[in-house]
Amino acid sequence: MMLGTDVSSLSTTTATAAAQGLSIVVPLYNEAAGLASLHQRLCELARRLKAKYRLPSEVVYVDDGSADATLSIALGLKADGIDVQVVSLSRNFGKEAALMAGLDHAKRGAVLFMDGDGQHPPDLVEKLVGHWIEDGYDVVYTAKAHRDNESFLRRLSVRGFYALINWGARQKIPEDAGDFRLLSPRAAAALRQLPERNRFFKGLASWIGFRQIRVDYEPAAREHGMTTFSPGRLVGLSIEGLTSFSVAPLRFASLLGVLLASAAFLFGLSILWETMIDGKSVPGYPSLVVGLMTIGGVQLIMIGIVGEYIGKILSELKARPIYFVAEHSDKRADARADNE
Ligand code: UDP
Ligand code: MG
Repeated sequence: MMLGTDVSSLSTTTATAAAQGLSIVVPLYNEAAGLASLHQRLCELARRLKAKYRLPSEVVYVDDGSADATLSIALGLKADGIDVQVVSLSRNFGKEAALMAGLDHAKRGAVLFMDGDGQHPPDLVEKLVGHWIEDGYDVVYTAKAHRDNESFLRRLSVRGFYALINWGARQKIPEDAGDFRLLSPRAAAALRQLPERNRFFKGLASWIGFRQIRVDYEPAAREHGMTTFSPGRLVGLSIEGLTSFSVAPLRFASLLGVLLASAAFLFGLSILWETMIDGKSVPGYPSLVVGLMTIGGVQLIMIGIVGEYIGKILSELKARPIYFVAEHSDKRADARADNE
């Protein structure tokens, strides 16, 4: 029985790769204000890709249970030189689930993930596509060129997060790589093969391997509204990413346990020495209380860490679908041309 998956039949040579085309997946959560102008830019982009690489493209808008007019605006968009799919989820499932829905519905070969708030510049896409079609890269990921506008605390936590998640990992997740990323047909196929429910896209896209390349870019300012990721939500996402991607916290727990136990053992020896050899009586309430509290606290933290993993196992075991599609529309660019 074969326990791996062979995606090598999905060739990446120039001509065939381009013929399969590109699916652009855009998750949308309350992005009504900027959607029309984003679509405009994607239509122009599609035309340029067609001219330059003979690359047909489609855009898959995933409405992640928006509360505003996002869905009705998306459904009204014209398939102007680009196929347009609109996938509407039954409620807000979160960005990772929305990306997954887009990946599942993408019909073309390569897949590009792009935010719907205008922060991922469509103009950069040509460069990403070039790395795929011309240079044969499978995963073209982007990283913000600088993080000057972010607070010191936020940068520090990002550092810590990646240090922890990459600790002892064989395939390191590149620091501050974003979700703006292009996958070749075989890389997209590989990503679809992964069965887990707890999705941490940055990690998975790096884990699959293949030829990867990094592109730095200057993120644009958000055109409308503000970020939907509050500090609390980011902490949640970090715990999610950590526990679904690395056993470093568990290893850290065991290490700390060994360390504490050794310290306690040595301390015990020294007490024994004092009583037996020096003949001192032990007046030590404070040290007892401190020791008890330290060990009690550490144990609670460690149980919490183990609990996170058990929760993860529970949610994988329930095997619920990652999202539900409430509405789906699919417009072909060429069909529109025939009608007119
Ligand atoms: N998004 C989503 N579901 C959510 C939250 C966000 O699909 O529950 C989308 C959002 O519409 C945007 C992208 O994910 O296209 C990134 O969101 P945001 O700009 O708020 O995040 P940031 O750029 O601050 O990381
Ligand atoms: Mg944004």
